[in-house]
Amino acid sequence: MAEILENQVLHTLGQVIDEKSDRNIVSLGIVKDITVDKGKVSCILEFQDNDQKKNSRIFEDSKKAIEEIPGVTKVDIITTFHREQADEDDKFEAIQPPINNQLGTSKIKYILAVASGKGGVGKSTIALNLASAFKSLGLKTCLLDADIYGPSIPKMIGTNEKPHSDGKQIETVNRYGISTMSMGYMVEDENPIIWRGLMVMKAINEMIEKVNWGEADIMIIDMPPGTGDVQISLAQKLKITASVIVTTPQDIALVDVIRGLRMFEKTDIPIYGIIENMSYFLAPDTGKEYKLYGESKTDVVAEKYEYEILTRLPYDTLLMEQCDKGHPLTDLVPDHKVSKLFLETAENILKRLKLEKLSQTN
Ligand code: ADP
Repeated sequence: MAEILENQVLHTLGQVIDEKSDRNIVSLGIVKDITVDKGKVSCILEFQDNDQKKNSRIFEDSKKAIEEIPGVTKVDIITTFHREQADEDDKFEAIQPPINNQLGTSKIKYILAVASGKGGVGKSTIALNLASAFKSLGLKTCLLDADIYGPSIPKMIGTNEKPHSDGKQIETVNRYGISTMSMGYMVEDENPIIWRGLMVMKAINEMIEKVNWGEADIMIIDMPPGTGDVQISLAQKLKITASVIVTTPQDIALVDVIRGLRMFEKTDIPIYGIIENMSYFLAPDTGKEYKLYGESKTDVVAEKYEYEILTRLPYDTLLMEQCDKGHPLTDLVPDHKVSKLFLETAENILKRLKLEKLSQTN
């Protein structure tokens, strides 16, 4: 019941328009949280600028709209103001994708960004297994682990090999037929990495310009979660062909997903859709499917913003175990149900990438 009401509140707030941008306040990321306790609705609105007249109108409109929902007995709205986020969003507005990829001497046909609103949703697992699926479709595939704050690809492919360098170029680390590069190869294990603005730019520049990626059909980028400096640096350096967003059905940070989607919209990178991870549990003995988190919230976002749900992946113990052991499941057991889902998804994405290229050249 509470979940239905929560969705209704989200839907209702999706009708409240910020007159300055002429967009609704959900898509703008202003709605930060909604909680429902019986008929009592509390929500947080985080304004992105300090235009008090406009903000108080949004506040009044939101309160009135929620009060009109049947079953609502009380409405509490907390408002906050986030200057930093406003600055960050302005930065995305200003990004023009580069005319040419700044990949040094390397040439890559398609670049696919795998992003998420927050960490821990399985973004790296999906980036790696998609890369493995593209490889098995016969594509020369590379994987850039741009999650410099928590690089997990070295562990997931079971290596801590240091990349070779002749002082000019850095060679990729190749495993399972995929050429990879990650900041995880450059730093000692377990050391948390503290990056500051300029260092981020430098690290991303090195991984793009100095690494010998050679000629490849596709590059998968494992993006850091959320939005920030790395995304800006990448969008300025690479012509990213398309992006996919990873989420989980119970993702309470729904607004983070929306923020992730908005970032790509602002940089004009096509969003192919949402990959919902851990959608259900697949019993290894019976192959039966169990819903773990009740009704999926992903549908609400997908329907509202007209994004496709590209696939729903189960919570699968073998996928997790193999990730921990350093072997992508798609490579190890290509007949596994989850591997087949990765393969199907890669095939569908590839069809769209090919069409995209065709329309760009015509
Ligand atoms: P992120 O990159 O979003 O931070 P990871 O890919 O590192 O997330 O995944 C976090 C943890 O969840 C890892 O231990 C991974 O093995 C596990 N995991 C991811 N997807 C699944 C899944 N579908 N089934 C089981 N475990 C998963």
